[in-house]
Amino acid sequence: MCDERLNEGGIFAIYARGTDVAKVTYFSLYALQHRGQTGAGIAVAGPDGIRCQKGLGTVGEVFTETDLNQLNGHMAIGHVQRGEGGVPGPEEAQPLVCRFYKGAIALEYNGNLINLSKLREDLFANGSIFHTYTDAELMVNLIARYSRSVTLEEALMKCMVDIKGVYAMTVMSEDKLIGVRDPYGNRPLCIGRIEGNWVLASESCTIGMLGGTFVRDVAPGEIVTIDEQGLHSVMIFPRKKSALCMFEYIYFARPDSVLDGINVMSARKAMGRELAWECPVEADLVIPVPDSGIGSALGYADALGISYNMGLIKNRYMDGSDVKTREMRRDLSVRLKLNPVTRLVEGKRVALVDDSLIKGTTSRMIARVVREKGAREVHFLTACPPVRYPCKYGVGTFRGDELTAAARTVEETRRFIGCDSLYYLSLEGIYRALGSESGFCAACFDGVYPVNGGEA
Ligand code: SF4
Ligand code: MG
Repeated sequence: MCDERLNEGGIFAIYARGTDVAKVTYFSLYALQHRGQTGAGIAVAGPDGIRCQKGLGTVGEVFTETDLNQLNGHMAIGHVQRGEGGVPGPEEAQPLVCRFYKGAIALEYNGNLINLSKLREDLFANGSIFHTYTDAELMVNLIARYSRSVTLEEALMKCMVDIKGVYAMTVMSEDKLIGVRDPYGNRPLCIGRIEGNWVLASESCTIGMLGGTFVRDVAPGEIVTIDEQGLHSVMIFPRKKSALCMFEYIYFARPDSVLDGINVMSARKAMGRELAWECPVEADLVIPVPDSGIGSALGYADALGISYNMGLIKNRYMDGSDVKTREMRRDLSVRLKLNPVTRLVEGKRVALVDDSLIKGTTSRMIARVVREKGAREVHFLTACPPVRYPCKYGVGTFRGDELTAAARTVEETRRFIGCDSLYYLSLEGIYRALGSESGFCAACFDGVYPVNGGEA
């Protein structure tokens, strides 16, 4: 069985002497904030060993100028965390800093271990103790167990034999930084250079934002080390058939990022064009559900020659505010986040385009408010197939019991949402948009789990 606790997020790492690495990491986390808003942390290694500042909330909420000024050193790793399944405790925020006989290490982990419970039992039996139920804590325990007589990279290699799951992680010791991507490459991680220094990041948009150059993606199963000598690819764990999470292109990643050679915005526009060819509707206006529906809506409108407009206005100050709105009426909470422009939708046949449809409750509210503002017809177009299977790799919103498409036919979902028509892009359509049928995980659409069949 998979552990459904979340371990999603964004990671960044930098090795740079003579640079304020804490500040650079802090800015990089702002560029990765879309990957998680429930926790943030930065660990810095310098003359005083490893120091860390972390907490719950967004980057802006967690760090003060004073905190950052106290983080001095020449190496840093930073993390933002996503936790839609519930807010983690502060002890679950990352990076995790631990001390063992070889000194201190800081680790940040993005992904999900499907055999976490089994590995914990083994470690418990051998005397390990745990404060949390996180994959990160399991990893540092395993590393400590294996590092006795070998290098950190060799210990990580041994850990990779034991752990089953998907991950991108960085580990910082007192003298080097290590980046690892799982053998399937399910989670993104790339390498860049900023003013001659090496960095690692979940997404290339971070490197661009910092004025650096993208170098390449970390290969599936690759362990890269950054130290005083520069960057070296230490060893390659036998790689499997690549299975990058398709939802990176559909939803998670920022449009200006390039993942495994594909620009996210171009992929979304291509998905919209495929959707137009597969499911053309007669409409007067195409409206995206912001923000992740924008690319596919543009592609859809363009391919059909229908006008496109931002008919739903997103409240920029409500990001990551599910906690604050939890007690609110659901319809008010949706309207606070997305409000239709009456003048645009009045009397129109509206085609609403969204990246995906998971629970369907927000889509239902959106369809209702657009109709209330006078739309004559409301068509709902989804730029990916029905999500019918749970994600076993840590994408917490995709739990079996919450998936509208798992329990309903398309017609039943259409009635639930209350729209005049509902269409989904086919999986073949996504493959055409991405230019390849291989290289991706699509398990939540087709039930084929690439990593260990989804089993521990
Ligand atoms: Fe991504 Fe879906 Fe695969 Fe989970 S099952 S890793 S959400 S593509
Ligand atoms: Mg987990």
